[in-house]
Amino acid sequence: MRLTIIGSGDAFGSGGRFNTCFFLETAKGKLLVDCGASSLVALKAQGLDPNEVDGIVLSHLHGDHFGALPFLLLDAQFLTRRERPLLIAGPPGTRTRLDQSLEVFFPRSSANKWRFSWKVIEIEIARPLKPRLPDLRARRIMLTHMNPVMLAHLDEVRAARALVAEDGAVIDL
Ligand SMILES: [Zn+2]
Repeated sequence: MRLTIIGSGDAFGSGGRFNTCFFLETAKGKLLVDCGASSLVALKAQGLDPNEVDGIVLSHLHGDHFGALPFLLLDAQFLTRRERPLLIAGPPGTRTRLDQSLEVFFPRSSANKWRFSWKVIEIEIARPLKPRLPDLRARRIMLTHMNPVMLAHLDEVRAARALVAEDGAVIDL
């Protein structure tokens, strides 16, 4: 599995970093984890084709985690003419928020006759994570989504042997 860090920034572009977005390539497909407002630009800046993405998993519905979706969908519809299906998974309310954001940025766009199939799966929240804690055996920890205070302490983070996420970094797992 290969992880490419598309965006490691916070909501405000601190340190000149793009909003949160991770690109995972596995034998079974290609996946984005989060797709913040600047992510379509960041994907293209890194030479990655958004239309190769099979699915997008959203951690939550703040703009710096899902805000690029209207632009990504409309880019696929009108500019790059996507043909392969796209699956979007997120918390309850994802479809409504996505439709609302499409309408805010591009009125009447949520009623498009889409040239490619896409659907949203809403994942139940508040499931106990706690019983699975012993299953977490991270050998390395990487910090991301850093605000200016955290960015001022990167030497301490590195001294603690944690990885610091950098836009464009590629990590083979
Ligand atoms: Zn955030």
